[in-house]
Amino acid sequence: MPPVYSPSDYIRIEEFCKKHSFQYNFDTLDDVIKITSPKKEIRLVLNSCLGYINGETFYLKQPPLYIRGKILLPKELEEVVAKKVVLLKPLFKIEKIIIDPGHGGRDPGAISFNGLKEKNLNLRVSKYLKEELEKRGYKAILTRSKDNYLSLKERVKIAKKYSADVFLSIHTNSNRSRKIRGVEIYYLSPSRFKSLERAIKLAKGKDFDDIPFEAKVIVWDLTLGKNYATSVELAQHLYFAFKNLGFKVSLPKRAPFYVLKFAYVPSVLVEIGYLSNPYEEKSLRKKYYQKQIAEAIALGINSLDKYYRGLIKNVKNEK
Ligand SMILES: [Zn+2]
Repeated sequence: MPPVYSPSDYIRIEEFCKKHSFQYNFDTLDDVIKITSPKKEIRLVLNSCLGYINGETFYLKQPPLYIRGKILLPKELEEVVAKKVVLLKPLFKIEKIIIDPGHGGRDPGAISFNGLKEKNLNLRVSKYLKEELEKRGYKAILTRSKDNYLSLKERVKIAKKYSADVFLSIHTNSNRSRKIRGVEIYYLSPSRFKSLERAIKLAKGKDFDDIPFEAKVIVWDLTLGKNYATSVELAQHLYFAFKNLGFKVSLPKRAPFYVLKFAYVPSVLVEIGYLSNPYEEKSLRKKYYQKQIAEAIALGINSLDKYYRGLIKNVKNEK
């Protein structure tokens, strides 16, 4: 069933672009709509009220929709183009990264036929990643630096405590089939669907307690939208970084597990390879290979950060 909407509030994307001399591009992988002119870049996500214009955030009353094969934009987008809308949030850049080595302590994770334990491998790669990120000027914090057990709740609590920009989980895969191999990337943020429902649930919590409930719902809806978009974008930048370094890597997917716990921060999980694949297990034991994985991830984060900073520069040039 198509969503309930009032057609008079909407304009077809082709019409909008013609009117304002924009071009558009729609990515079905992540539902991101990019509308560009030489001076402006607007980014929207289907069914989400959040948008970006040259890297600054704005909030729509109605989301872009996809109905019977057509993309419909809310007419209020005209006000954004005419700069009649208040831009809401400061520009985004990546400074603080939480690295979360999966498993630990009594929880070994996957174990290879040679006895290599996932928890130890995750930690080793995470430590190299911390080095790689610090070399590039980022602040990187490990959720664990020893072989100890942490619950999911405790891991997320650390991200909240440091108000990290990005949360990155490192895991190693395993499968009954020994043939399967390669890197897999998942974004952990809740999907954009039912985002208002989730925002209401989160607004009942203690965060942002100094503002009225309705405002809290809006803040949470914004946060969820922004974190979702950032998680998807980070996953894509990581994908290309791995690909460029010659890794076998699958297209990013949304993790079907973990939901509201990751509302606080853009979150991505990287499965660095398969311990069940003899070829990959052999590589994963090697220091140079572990370092190469760390390098790919650091390059991916750096690439997204550069992209955001590029948008900031465009805004400054325009002013
Ligand atoms: Zn794992």
